Amino acid sequence: MFKINRRKFLKYSTIFSGGIVCSQLLKSTFSNELFAKSFEPNLYEASFYERIGNGQVRCLICPQKCEVNNGGRGFCGVRENKGGKYYLIVHSRPCSINVDPIEKKPLFHYLPGEKSFSIATAGCNIACKFCQNWEISQYRPEQVPYVKATPSDIAEMAVEKACKTIAYTYTEPVVFYEFMRDTAIEGNKRGIKSVVITNAFINEKPLIELTKIVGAIKVDFKAFSDDFYRNICNGELKPVLRSMEIIKKQGVHLEIVHLTIPTLNDSDKEIREMSKWIKQNLGEYVPVHFTRFHPTYKMRNLPPTPVSTLTRAREIAISEGLKYVYTGNLPGNDGENTYCHKCGKLLIKRLGFYIRENKIKAGCCSFCGTRIPGVFT
Ligand code: SF4
Repeated sequence: MFKINRRKFLKYSTIFSGGIVCSQLLKSTFSNELFAKSFEPNLYEASFYERIGNGQVRCLICPQKCEVNNGGRGFCGVRENKGGKYYLIVHSRPCSINVDPIEKKPLFHYLPGEKSFSIATAGCNIACKFCQNWEISQYRPEQVPYVKATPSDIAEMAVEKACKTIAYTYTEPVVFYEFMRDTAIEGNKRGIKSVVITNAFINEKPLIELTKIVGAIKVDFKAFSDDFYRNICNGELKPVLRSMEIIKKQGVHLEIVHLTIPTLNDSDKEIREMSKWIKQNLGEYVPVHFTRFHPTYKMRNLPPTPVSTLTRAREIAISEGLKYVYTGNLPGNDGENTYCHKCGKLLIKRLGFYIRENKIKAGCCSFCGTRIPGVFT
């Protein structure tokens, strides 16, 4: 029976620090000792579903609300109906394991400078045409290499790698919800917080449960337009807005990323309306990142986002009253630094994913003493 070899993983995983573990890279670097030749599903009964008759089930994890016949799978491809029972089949079957700086998520106001033990399984509950990780998010578990690693294996590896957090990232953790939840619980037992990198396309009940056990959630806010969500992502805007309000209300640290795509979601009007909504509903201190798009997957016809578009989006959001607005995927740009919202002094100087200088002391500006929103120790 195949099982992850932890010592070997710890040796090889340094190869990946700083970069996503893509399926081909995994395959060529690790031997079959570490990667099973064919996918062995791990049947873990789903926590949120209902039986709807004739052997069918309805999944209640996300707003897709898939209705699945016996033997079938939901849209995300990682949940399967077997004899009228619904199962997550990728529990303890990560396809990516990596050690990243937390700035890569990006989370700028949550334990800056610390390492995050990052995992993903195959699958996603939406289908963005610009997905940067489509080789794992849009594939079925059978199509990507994976390892067998239980939640306690992962938490132990995070401890050995001196990571302060475990991140559920790269694909969409909502689809491997039970695996994420059990890993977060194991991490908490060892003093390691969990951070969730998500599209926030999740139903209310599972989200509320999740907010009780994780430290931070970063939401990929695709656009302030339901048309964009439906036509480009196969999702919907409204549930995402509701999720962000719930996260805020539950008191979990929240950051937002907007991948700014030329001509699709980059108009001044949309950025302004989105900034107003964020301020009104989530508050002025929620960090917002405008990040640069690179042509990929089904969207290779558009150019990379011009630097001027990102700096303009940042200026608009700041003019609408948001206090911590960043530019992303632009190493060396001033928009990746943190300035105190009270005295305006430079607090964290970054270069890409790395911190050059940090003037936040015990969560406060070391110049004027103002408390800086976030978790810094
Ligand atoms: S989690 Fe997957 S199976 Fe469940 S509703 Fe969402 S897309 Fe469908």
